[in-house]
Amino acid sequence: MRDDLRRRYDLSNDRKKEGFESNFSGLGSSSWNGPVGPHALFVDENKCIGCRECVHYASKTFTMDDALGTARVRVQFGDDEKSIEVAMESCPTDCIHWVESGELPLLEFLARPRPKEAHGIFGGGWERPRDVFAAAKLYQKQLKQRREQQSHGHGNRNGAVDEAEAETPAQAEARRDAGLKLRMGGILLVWSRFREMFGFGNNSGE
Ligand code: SF4
Repeated sequence: MRDDLRRRYDLSNDRKKEGFESNFSGLGSSSWNGPVGPHALFVDENKCIGCRECVHYASKTFTMDDALGTARVRVQFGDDEKSIEVAMESCPTDCIHWVESGELPLLEFLARPRPKEAHGIFGGGWERPRDVFAAAKLYQKQLKQRREQQSHGHGNRNGAVDEAEAETPAQAEARRDAGLKLRMGGILLVWSRFREMFGFGNNSGE
C-alpha cells in the first residue's frame, strides 16, 4: 500500500476508535441502592440462558431484557445480601460475577449490543464481544497506550503521524505564507515574461 494511503487508513481507523471511545461516557447502566461500594454485580450476558432464576430470587436487583432474552443488573444491591446470594447460587451457568466497581461501567458498556455493520444483503443484526472481560482489558490497554502517545506528542500506534494534530498554529501559518509566496512567485514570473515579450518599460523611464 502506498505510504499516503496507509497513513490515511491508519488515521481513519484511529478516528473510528476515537468515536468508540467518545461513546463511552464512563457511566454504567445499573444504578446503586445506596452509596457506591467496592464491589458490584455483573451478568455476563453471553453466558446467560434467560432462565429467570436470578430475577425470581432478587427481583429488585436483576431484570430481564425480554428483547435479548438475557438478565442484567438493574440496581446494585437492590435486594438484601441473602437474596442476592441465593440468586447467584441458583444461576445454572454461573454467569453472575462480582467485579470491582471501577471496572463495572466499561463492562456494562461493552456488554451492550451494538448494531452490526451490514454489507448488502449480508450482516446486520447486533453484536458484542464474545469475551467481555478480555475486551475490557484490551480496551483499557489500548486507551492507556493512546494516552501515553498523545502525552508524548507522537503519532498513532503504527507510527503514522496525525497531520491535523501534529501541525501547530505557527506551522499552519508558515505553511499558508509559503503557499502565498509560491503563488505570488508564479504570478510575478508570468508578469516578468509578459513584460519581456511586449517590451514594457517602467516608471523610471528605462
Ligand atoms: S440465573 Fe443466570 S442464566 Fe438464569 S437468567 Fe439469571 S443470569 Fe441468566
